[in-house]
Amino acid sequence: MKMAKIKKKIKTIRVKADKCNGCRACEIVCSGFHASPKYDVINPARSRIQILTHRLQNIFFPVFAGEYTPAECMGREIYVIDEKEYEECAFCRATCPSRDLFKEPDSCLPLRCDMCEDDPPQKEPLCVQVCLNDVLTYEEREEEVEEEENVNLVEVGLRSLIDKHGFDTLVDTMVRMAEKG
Ligand code: SF4
Ligand code: SF4
Repeated sequence: MKMAKIKKKIKTIRVKADKCNGCRACEIVCSGFHASPKYDVINPARSRIQILTHRLQNIFFPVFAGEYTPAECMGREIYVIDEKEYEECAFCRATCPSRDLFKEPDSCLPLRCDMCEDDPPQKEPLCVQVCLNDVLTYEEREEEVEEEENVNLVEVGLRSLIDKHGFDTLVDTMVRMAEKG
């Protein structure tokens, strides 16, 4: 089946990691913005940007939450940058079973950077706005892409709960909740 081409706005945040001083303002504003109600709680564990940290070497590296994936990948590469070794997972943006990163701490639901969707829209993503060291730079461009299905976030969340607890447990829980009203 031939898919239609559409013009799409591509949003990118460019990261200059060597400028990051680990202040974590980006984690704070992201977790506060996504709290319910907004800014009610500041919990960096819920942030969609996480700062990979090696305190003894003064290394701080921002990583953004990407796609949910139900399976672990098969291999592990080691990267050496300035004579320091990093596992491939260190730079990976996926929410996967290998680690707790980019998951809601209580429910384990996957977190994903939404570039700060808001109404009215943000001028720039909030983490970019609060970063005083020019580590994060926001860019927009138009690109012609094949039309894709909208990602259904409810479906992604349910899929992750089914992967974790099983389909039957999820259905039993929903039935029980419905009965309680
Ligand atoms: S706000 Fe900027 S300097 Fe501070 S931790 Fe985040 S990316 Fe690094
Ligand atoms: S762009 Fe917005 S949602 Fe994404 S990490 Fe930054 S503050 Fe969080």
